[in-house]
Amino acid sequence: MLLRLLLQLTVPLLINKPIPDKHEIRDSSVNYIVLHYDEGGDYKIARITLIKRHASYHYFVKRDGTIIKLLDPMYAGSHAGLSYYNGNFHINKYSIGICLENKPPQEYTRKQYTSTAWLIKSLQQRYHDSTSHIILGHSDVAWPRGRKQDPGKRFKWNILHQLIDSTTARKPNESKHPKVPIVPKHKKKRKNPH
Ligand SMILES: [Zn+2]
Repeated sequence: MLLRLLLQLTVPLLINKPIPDKHEIRDSSVNYIVLHYDEGGDYKIARITLIKRHASYHYFVKRDGTIIKLLDPMYAGSHAGLSYYNGNFHINKYSIGICLENKPPQEYTRKQYTSTAWLIKSLQQRYHDSTSHIILGHSDVAWPRGRKQDPGKRFKWNILHQLIDSTTARKPNESKHPKVPIVPKHKKKRKNPH
């Protein structure tokens, strides 16, 4: 209850600072939310790396809770790499990527949890369908499984879920999905950041 009140009172700082690149329109009929860490724990370095690799998250949440908007979710980002979830490959096409500034084994900050929860709530309002309530880690979608670990063991899903509406935010349940999907032909494996 207290956490929900805190969330209602907390409106984080959101800065619009787009990554200069070309982006295709995303399939916004599916709106999984995929969480990452940057691994280096440094927004400036992460930004330079993204630009070099022609990669992009949609949002970056700094340790002080500031949200940087890198790309509008109407466009497809490039953050998930080779990926699979619930019958869909190429999760970039179907997801909104949020990266949290974190260098493992660093703990995430309280402000990062509140800002991320606020951001997810606002995205769920914009894309008010069932899929926008499915919040995944990069580790949940990276293919083959085990290729990525983020947002990692230090990320406390229960805190995020308490901050978001606990009845709508849920963890993935892989057991419902085929364990060995047919791997499609990929044109080119692009190196992607965390
Ligand atoms: Zn990642």
